[in-house]
Amino acid sequence: MRRYILAGNWKMYTDLDSAGTLARLLVEAVGDIKDRDIVLIPPYPFIESVARIVKGSAIDVGAQECRAEDIGAFTGDVSASMIKSVGAKYCLVGHSERRQFHSETSESCNGKIKSLLLADITPIYCVGEKLDVREAHGATALIETQLREGLLGLSAEDLEKIVLAYEPVWAIGTGKVATPDQAQEIHAFIRKVLGDIYSADLAQAIRIQYGGSVKPDNVDDLMACPDIDGALVGGAALKAESFARIVKFL
Ligand code: PEP
Repeated sequence: MRRYILAGNWKMYTDLDSAGTLARLLVEAVGDIKDRDIVLIPPYPFIESVARIVKGSAIDVGAQECRAEDIGAFTGDVSASMIKSVGAKYCLVGHSERRQFHSETSESCNGKIKSLLLADITPIYCVGEKLDVREAHGATALIETQLREGLLGLSAEDLEKIVLAYEPVWAIGTGKVATPDQAQEIHAFIRKVLGDIYSADLAQAIRIQYGGSVKPDNVDDLMACPDIDGALVGGAALKAESFARIVKFL
């Protein structure tokens, strides 16, 4: 039985005060829900203070990015061990905004995933297609490549520690959510690819979140799909009320 995981990606929003307020409101609203994983992913500078606020509740904290190397002359970058030291238990890898604005590739994601696993942080590896790829019927081929390159060299034991997120790029921040059928089809496909690379049992054990304009009014239908194990939420995670409603999906 896979455990649901609901994560809120705050992107480059909030400031120190509003991040604290949002975290406090969420501790009140969902901090005692123990039958699913709840993760807040603030900007780097607020990770530590948010981690202090949620400490002792059922909520965990994550980071939005890290570098593959652990230490060195990489101005502006942050390593897995650094985010771990300020309380992050999860880290996004390969979010489409990183792929778009920072030339992130599935190959570079592979190094980050390995480094996060070494630091005992759960990577949330994001895959998904742009609209033109979907319209050209190339979504599954692209996603298979993203999976094969991003997961290259990972053992079955490593894979068990990873969360995947299917995020169709055309649905991120656009209000255009994938229909439950569209999302379910790709989630089932991802399991098939994992089954080919690893084993059917392992493919069944891995958690796959859906992300892309998840809102209180569509979360129930999406979460009812058999291969969807949670949500990666952007815009709707910035308001305590809407994220709390998403966390409490039926
Ligand atoms: C995201 O940032 O991963 C995301 C899914 O954003 P939104 O929910 O705003 O589409």
